[in-house]
Amino acid sequence: MTPNRLVVLFLALLAVGPLVLPPFYVTLLNYIGLYALVAIGLVLLTGVGGLTSFGQAAFVGLGAYTTAILTTQGELLPAWLAWLGASPWLTLIAGMLITLAVAWLLGAITLKLSGHFLPLGTIAWGLSLYFAFGSVPGLGGHSGIPDIPAINLVGVTLARGDQIYYLIWAFLLVGIWTTRNLLDSREGRAIRALKGGRVMAESMGVDTARARMVIFLIAALQACASGWLYAHMQRFVNPNPFGLHMGIEYLFMTVIGGAGHVWGAVVGAGVFTVLKQWLQDWMPRLLGQTGNFEIIVFGFGMVYLLHRARGGIWPLLAKYVPVRKPARTVDTTAEPLPRREQPTRGEVVLQAVDVTRAFGGLIANRAVNLEVRAGEILALIGPNGAGKSTLFNQISGVDVPTSGQVRFRGHDVTGQDARQVARLGLSRTFQHVRLLNRMSVLENVAIGAHLRGQRGVLPAAWRLDRAEEARLLAEAARQVERVGLGRHLMEEAGSLALGQQRILEIARALASDPCVLLLDEPAAGLRYQEKKELAALLSQLRAEGLAILLVEHDMDFVMGLVDRVVVMDFGEKIAEGLPAEIQRNPAVLEAYLGGTDE
Ligand code: ADP
Ligand code: MG
Repeated sequence: MTPNRLVVLFLALLAVGPLVLPPFYVTLLNYIGLYALVAIGLVLLTGVGGLTSFGQAAFVGLGAYTTAILTTQGELLPAWLAWLGASPWLTLIAGMLITLAVAWLLGAITLKLSGHFLPLGTIAWGLSLYFAFGSVPGLGGHSGIPDIPAINLVGVTLARGDQIYYLIWAFLLVGIWTTRNLLDSREGRAIRALKGGRVMAESMGVDTARARMVIFLIAALQACASGWLYAHMQRFVNPNPFGLHMGIEYLFMTVIGGAGHVWGAVVGAGVFTVLKQWLQDWMPRLLGQTGNFEIIVFGFGMVYLLHRARGGIWPLLAKYVPVRKPARTVDTTAEPLPRREQPTRGEVVLQAVDVTRAFGGLIANRAVNLEVRAGEILALIGPNGAGKSTLFNQISGVDVPTSGQVRFRGHDVTGQDARQVARLGLSRTFQHVRLLNRMSVLENVAIGAHLRGQRGVLPAAWRLDRAEEARLLAEAARQVERVGLGRHLMEEAGSLALGQQRILEIARALASDPCVLLLDEPAAGLRYQEKKELAALLSQLRAEGLAILLVEHDMDFVMGLVDRVVVMDFGEKIAEGLPAEIQRNPAVLEAYLGGTDE
């Protein structure tokens, strides 16, 4: 069955559900829909973005309480607010705006946290909001707010479960569709790049702080919409469903369903809800007594699932379900992206002027000077600990010199961050390959083209970005072809050999249309033939006028290829010259032969 037919079948089943199922099951499906709506936010936030949140239930509560108060307490509210209570559709918008504001504030204070501090932070504000719902005067305390009106949709009042069912699942389907679209776009790749580490993403021009905030806000909005639907389904709210335990359950649903997959959220919410209900019904009968035994069994069941299916249930199911894989084809007729104005051959593009970097008492770079010209390859060599990586980091905006200057095409860029430097036309690879293993070769390279596109989150979610996306992917495909990995275009990056992964990183760097390429040990781990191909590629790039700076250990590779060599030892530049001169230089021989590990 084709993916499209499968979707049609799924929609048809959804549509007839309430007509044939008993009300109990319709209610169950309503809950699954509401939970899944929150869980798809967590897929984006936690599964894809790597940010663990236990606090989503609080945003569900914000959506529910906003509409509850506005639609029932009109007479207590000032006139400028009270009019919103006229229709739940207005209160939905109000709830979204409030959620945006609150989430932005909470995001600003928690998203900078790393490691376990971030989840702890979400627990902290999740608890605060939960207690606020119960204690702030006017919110009905723990007995809650009754008499919430039903939603009216084009003249139909959605008073019964089998009526609001359609609205809940419509919201969920839109959530699934827009989230999947977003992930399969320029912004989506930026979000997925978060898992490749901050330095990699920023070096490709991705604003990682913004990307984190974006997914945090989207997840909060989806939770808010779920809360709004919930309030109008139950027609009553109290704080209970918005507590920390629910925040934990949402995360559970997402993880057991498959945190990295949008459909995993639906499967997770379904399995979780049905299993829990089933245990609640059967455990007391089996044991002949009540006493929350189902929770205990349920807990162990969840742990078992996590053991057996680390990636969640969805990936296991997906083997049997043909699903749409993002970006399978590349439109080679797409109009090429505009290129930046390139420097003329021989122009000094990159310059280090008296760069000094001290780590406490240790001087890792002492007054280092070097320059790289358009159309040349400069090698930076030296024994381990000489200070090459330190210099490399300062040039690429990852680190800031203690004193001295880094100049790029005549501008002082000292102290500018990796993203700004990337925007100016400097691109790099990493000594330890930093690719997104589960993403295709094509998409990895497309991350490099991030700064050459503009379309944001909303156009991506609604598929208004396709023209630009086609151009970005076509550019990425051209770079993959150029470095000779064309045969592997749609393979997962993680399935390539190390040597190919290094070449892939070069393609990713080239996708940004750089004028300087910084390569950190590009030949490490390459076989003889691969080295020859790499050397041919670099020669070709040089012929095209690119300036290339490479840090390298492999002497044979360096000597046959580069134009000039700079040698460092103990943080200082000890020699500079043509490869042949360097090979005869006594100071260099001393550094290498007398050195520690060469
Ligand atoms: P290379 O890349 O040439 O092997 P590095 O630039 O990595 O050398 O390191 C140069 C010196 O600076 C080493 O002695 C290293 O221990 C030290 N160093 C590098 N980074 C740091 C850091 N972040 N903090 C403290 N010392 C550092
Ligand atoms: Mg190094």
